[in-house]
Amino acid sequence: MLGTRFRIFTRFLILASLFVASEAIAQNPCPTLVANDADARQTLNNYLCYAVTNPGEPAHLANGPDNLPSSLKWQPAGGHDLVFSHTQATYWIKLTVTNTGTQQSLWYLKLNYPLLDEITFWQTRETQTDHSSAPALTTGDHHPFTSRGIDYRYYLLPVTLTANEVATVYIRVHSSGALNVPLSLVTPDQAIEESNHLTLIHGLFYGALLILAIFNLLLYASSGTRYYLLNAFNTASMAMFLFAMGGFANQYFWPDNSQLANLSIPLLLAVTGLAMTLFGWSFLEVPRRTLSGRTLHVLAWTGFGLLALTLVIPYTKSIVINTVFVLAAIAILTVIASLRWRQGYQPAFWYLAAWMVMVVGALFYASAAFGYLGDYLAREVTMQAVVGAQVVLINYALVQRWRLLNEKLLNVEHQARSELEIKVHERTAQLRTAMYRLEQANRKLETLSLKDALTGLHNRRHMDNLLPELCLEAQRTGKPLTLALLDADHFKRINDTWGHDFGDTCLRRIADILTEHVKRPRDVAVRFGGEEFALLLPDTDTSGAVRICNGILETIRTTPIHTPINEAVTLTMSAGIAEFAGHENAQELFQSADEALYTSKHRGRDTLTCAGTVPQPPA
Ligand code: GH3
Ligand code: MG
Ligand code: MG
Repeated sequence: MLGTRFRIFTRFLILASLFVASEAIAQNPCPTLVANDADARQTLNNYLCYAVTNPGEPAHLANGPDNLPSSLKWQPAGGHDLVFSHTQATYWIKLTVTNTGTQQSLWYLKLNYPLLDEITFWQTRETQTDHSSAPALTTGDHHPFTSRGIDYRYYLLPVTLTANEVATVYIRVHSSGALNVPLSLVTPDQAIEESNHLTLIHGLFYGALLILAIFNLLLYASSGTRYYLLNAFNTASMAMFLFAMGGFANQYFWPDNSQLANLSIPLLLAVTGLAMTLFGWSFLEVPRRTLSGRTLHVLAWTGFGLLALTLVIPYTKSIVINTVFVLAAIAILTVIASLRWRQGYQPAFWYLAAWMVMVVGALFYASAAFGYLGDYLAREVTMQAVVGAQVVLINYALVQRWRLLNEKLLNVEHQARSELEIKVHERTAQLRTAMYRLEQANRKLETLSLKDALTGLHNRRHMDNLLPELCLEAQRTGKPLTLALLDADHFKRINDTWGHDFGDTCLRRIADILTEHVKRPRDVAVRFGGEEFALLLPDTDTSGAVRICNGILETIRTTPIHTPINEAVTLTMSAGIAEFAGHENAQELFQSADEALYTSKHRGRDTLTCAGTVPQPPA
């Protein structure tokens, strides 16, 4: 009963206090925050107050909240994140907070921006009589990472409150860059939970970028293609830049080197600008002598120059110059990629798509860097999404470029092969024609070499080839073979009387008569000397040869040949016949026939004689 009453009472108290609190917000610009109230913590920016102290003002040099002049004008944050652009001022932030619980509790004032030069944190306890102004914590980029107290890339400022304690927390911030002070008040559980979720996102993001960079390095190692190396450089530099922006680099790479912690951001900006320029140049295959090529040349050297310059000029200047450089590089590469696309270079389309995403990211980055975008976490996640999408699209562009190159190669190979095939066909046809002609020519040559030009009969060479073969054949088969030699009688006189041309006509007429009389396919008529003829008669014995030769002598004798002045001239011929005896050679057979011919001449011509026979007196 008492318990129920107590509960109703406490609820009333809470409602009343909430009402009072909302009233208080309206009246007091810096109201007290009930740390135990999760909803109130969500609207921390309604409780924060800040003061800007410019150089020269007495508050600018205050080394603790006690030294702040009472005239200092505190302004309410008004529900917004605290964002200030590049200034030389020092910023003071004040939060009054109370623990309405019954036990001492710990909260963290979490500052989600890793790149502040110096943060000093005080917690003054209202209940204590002694208002010590010794800072609870001094940290920031200008101090080693261990100064943070808790090993975390963002700043976690511990706020410990005993039961019912009211404390005022002061934060003094000084930074040479853009100043983001996104604050939240969280319980240790909440801090761990948030950190876990982010760890997963970051792990995936940086892991993916690292793998892509390594993959591109491997592609470069195996193919030797330069833009793979430059893409690895581009991906790695972008990943490294975001890694440093996210505070990881300070935490893990150079926790004790506060100088490098400050230098890393502008330096990595220049490296990223340089990497994207070199990669874009190579990927888009921009010819060196064009305006685009020359612009990229200048841009690349500017990148190298800025790298050196960043080491010597102050951070406030280098961060602005390098940001402008990267934005210029992005803009120039976008224009050049559009030009290349319009020139018909297909991979430029995907590059352009990737670049469009990058432009959005760059605008985000720039607006944050110059203090126009508040929520650091949202900005970080957006940047990661943008860079992730860009890297994926660029790698897709690489694949497209590779595919296009491959297609081109295949086309060239196909064309070369077709051309080669056509050429081979042409050459083969030409070769065939040439071979056919050569064969024909050879045949003609062979025929010519075995024929007599004047009469068209076979010549001496043919007889010399054929006669030994016929002798061997007759020897082997036992069949008869006869050789008849015929010689025009007193032919010299014909020439002398009627001229050489008429002599030739007579020789041609003799040849015709020989051909008419030699009927069997295997019989061969030969002109082997001036007016000397031979008949090679296989399968023919002497009587057969005598019959043929008599027929020839008869025809010649009775066929007058007309001279150019139409005089009729008759010729006669003498013949000698020898039959193969079965043992002699061609020469001996010829000899026998020649001797028989000689005999015929001696017997008064216009007659025939058979070798080995007693010559008959002429008819
Ligand atoms: P014989 O009866 O003793 O054979 O007397 P012949 O005049 O025929 O004998 P010879 O061998 O002394 O002369 C052959 C002549 O044949 C010499 C040449 O005038 C003639 N003659 C040789 N070859 C050709 C030729 O190709 N054309 C012409 N028109 N005459 C030729
Ligand atoms: Mg003769
Ligand atoms: Mg003669």
